[in-house]
Amino acid sequence: MTHGTLVLQAPSECIPDQPALIARLSDLGFVGAGYGETPGVYLAGPRFLQLITFLGCSPHLQLEPPADGSEDFCHIRLRGPFRTARLLSAGNTRPPRCPGCGKGLTNWRQLESLWAKGGSGSEIGCAACGRSANPAELDWRRKAGFGRYFIEISSIFPEEALPLPALMECLRDDGAEWRYFYLQDW
Ligand SMILES: [Zn+2]
Repeated sequence: MTHGTLVLQAPSECIPDQPALIARLSDLGFVGAGYGETPGVYLAGPRFLQLITFLGCSPHLQLEPPADGSEDFCHIRLRGPFRTARLLSAGNTRPPRCPGCGKGLTNWRQLESLWAKGGSGSEIGCAACGRSANPAELDWRRKAGFGRYFIEISSIFPEEALPLPALMECLRDDGAEWRYFYLQDW
């Protein structure tokens, strides 16, 4: 079984002030000490397991860095803010539905690498009804996200890790709601 990533996504119109966000998440006990030499990478904080619920059995949830120095353990990584919104997707991402007729836009993979670089100007056409849609208006059904700022929680099993309201409220901080989704490659 392969590990996946839980991704928290800020609303595009409301990019957080990063130092203030980290201070809030640290006070909450969600993020702990910085990890390694890459900026924006953190160990899970002391209340991490009270802020994310793990459904089912997660017997091997590893919160401590392994002795071999690998990054194959549950940690937190900031992604962004990017100047323009971009797509985060993976092998588990399913075709989004056309906002016009609801059919699956199965040709989305042709635009995946462009959208991953921030090509929000490129729209996808629906073969069934002819409507065009941009990636920001598509419903990625918690299997991808299109935004400017993300927080990744690695080495979890997709769908089993659920962010709790206290965490989502801390992220929101009087702004718009954050979203969350899961990425997994096979
Ligand atoms: Zn359509």
